[in-house]
Order: sequence, then structure tokens, then C-alpha cells
Amino acid sequence: MPQHSREADAPADVFAWIDEAERAREQAGLVRTLRPRSAASPLLDLASNDYLGLSRHPETVRGACAAAEEWGAGATGARLVTGTTALHAELEQELADFCGFEAALVLSSGYAANLAAVTALGGRGALVASDSGNHASIVDGCRLSRAETAVVPHADPEAARKTLAAHTGRALLVTDSVFSVDGDAAPLAGYAEACRARGAALVVDDAHGLGVLGEGGRGALHAAGLAGAPGVVATLTLSKSLGSQGGAVLGPAKVIRHLVNTARTFIFDTGLAPAAAGGALAALRLLRREPERAARAREVAALLHGRLTAAGLASARPDAAVVSVRAPSAAAALRWAADCREAGLSVGCFRPPSVPDGVSRLRLTARADLTGEEIGRAVAVILRTAPAGAA
Ligand code: PMP
Repeated sequence: MPQHSREADAPADVFAWIDEAERAREQAGLVRTLRPRSAASPLLDLASNDYLGLSRHPETVRGACAAAEEWGAGATGARLVTGTTALHAELEQELADFCGFEAALVLSSGYAANLAAVTALGGRGALVASDSGNHASIVDGCRLSRAETAVVPHADPEAARKTLAAHTGRALLVTDSVFSVDGDAAPLAGYAEACRARGAALVVDDAHGLGVLGEGGRGALHAAGLAGAPGVVATLTLSKSLGSQGGAVLGPAKVIRHLVNTARTFIFDTGLAPAAAGGALAALRLLRREPERAARAREVAALLHGRLTAAGLASARPDAAVVSVRAPSAAAALRWAADCREAGLSVGCFRPPSVPDGVSRLRLTARADLTGEEIGRAVAVILRTAPAGAA
């Protein structure tokens, strides 16, 4: 029995407006619902962000369990109060070393990391130039930063250069390294040059590059020779290639100190749970020992893309481990994903408003631990269930 049961003379439902919004979503085929997965799911997973297959790796799980045993289930407080353990410090040191930056700061998610970097480096009077394909967390960072935000055309360094040149104050350019919808890479060299020419900072969200791009998975900035470069800051998530949870900002020590003192999503948030820090640290050490995992994820992506395009499906060339396949409509994408699931394959389904151009897609994750047989099975299911008009 709900505590507040509706009585006959109760006022009208204050949430009645949601009914209308729900009807509109239904009509547009854009309803989203949660579907709890079972731990022993028989589905072949091409939907998660577990690019290297490390989230259930015994070493990652042991790292998480050992951290919880030693430090407890929660961090117990904000990082500036009780929430910084020796484990957080160790993880920050090793992330910075691995990716080639002077210092790192761990936050409770990649989302919080992007908000922290953009708000702390932006601010009133500054200009933030943001690639139009950027992740929602960067978009929200721009909104929260109170800086003037200029959305620049996707992957266009010349447009970014012009936008930066038109402003005289402090400026930064922010971009995903690998765009999460189509899996295409940002023109980092061009963006870095545009920033150098103007004296602007470059902030790169390497959520989909860490563990996949660069030598042994050191990320897109390492691959571009920009790791540790002056004026360059990276943001990361620990929830994709590292199979855990959490986020980080990497950059010059001075920038990290500034974030510790000013970034609200760092200061007012409880520290990352020790289990998540321990899991990420174990996965990072595993990646150091087994650098071939990064190349394998890229190889699987190329295999998937090659087979799907050879069969006539429209798929953008993957620059990392995300393979995106276009669907004729949002409803068709949803049905396609459901048919795949019915046939034992879990795939992502991206529909508006998560896609910048309104084109719905299946989003496939090329995990490094997929076998040849699994890749063949996945491709067969996708082709067999493809809707008319998908090619
Ligand atoms: N940036 C990008 C590009 C992402 O794809 C994501 C995760 N969807 C995030 C940031 C947010 O990371 P987290 O899930 O750790 O909050």
C-alpha cells in the first residue's frame, strides 16, 4: 500500500504532463526501458563497453574484492575529507605514468571527469569550442561552465581554428578522441595545431581510446604524440577498457591541483569506491603485461566492419573498437536489435536524441576476447535479421 494513497478529492496528478510526453515518445518509437541482465546471460555480448573483456577477468575481480576487503565497501567521504585512500593515489600515479601525463585525478565517473575538466578550465569570460559530435557529459560541462560555448562542426580543425581566433580571452577546445556513436576518431593533430596557434588548451575525452588506441592501449593522445604535451588535458573513464567504474583527468600537475581546489564534481562528490579503484588498477596492470589486447580489439573491429560492409550494410569505418551500422528508421533499429537478442546476440541500439544526425544505428562493440567463431556467429545473426532498407 503506497504511503500516500489517492483520495477522491485529491488534487489532479501533478505529473499528468508526463503522460503526454510518453505518448509522443511511443509514437516516435523512442521509448527506453531498463532490461536487467542476468549474471549467467547466454547472450553473445556486442553491446557493452568492455572492449578488452576485463570486467569479469579474474584479476580485475580479485583487485576489486581485495580493495573492498581492505578499505570497505565505500570511500566514506569526499576526496578532500576521508575519501582518498592510498589506493586512489596509486591508481592516479599509474594512470598518469601509463598514459604519459604528469599527473592524474580520479573521480567517481567519466561523466564527472568531463564536468570537472570543462568547468574548472572554462569559466566566465572564457570560450569553450566543442566538437558537435561530443558526448553528453562534455555538452553538460559546457553548459555548467558559464563560459561562452561555440559548437564547432564535427572533426573540422579549420572551423575550430577560426572559432578560437575570433575570441581574445582564455580559450579551450574540447573533443572526444573517438566519437561514441560512429566510432570515428577526432583529427587530434589538427585540433592540437589550432590550439597551439591560438594559445588555447586542448581537452580530449579518451573514453573510447584508452586500452584500444596507442602503443599497448595508452590511448589516442599517446598515439598522436600529444600525451603530456603542454596545454593538453585528457579525460578518461575506467568503465570501458578497464572494466571497472570511475573516471579521471590527466594533465600538468598545476592543472590537477587547480581541479582539486575548484572542480565541483570532484570536491562535492564522495570519492570513488575502493572496489572500483582496485578493479581498475588490476585491469591497468594486466593491460601493461598484455599489451596485445589493444591491437586485438582493433583487429576484431576491422573484421566485423569488413564482413558487414562486404554483405552490403552501411557501416562507418571504425577507428577504434566501435562499429556502427545504420538502420533505416528508429523503429527498424529497435526491432533489429530485438531480433538479434532473440537470436542470442546483444547489440547496442542508438536512436535520437542520442545520435547527432537523427540516423538510428546498431552499435557493435569489438571486444578483444571475441573468438573467430563468435565473430562469425555475430555477423550471421546481424545479416539474417537485417531489415529491408538497411543496406
Ligand atoms: N565520455 C564518453 C565519450 C563516453 O562514451 C562516456 C560513457 N558513455 C562517458 C564520457 C562517461 O563515462 P562514465 O560512464 O564513466 O560516466
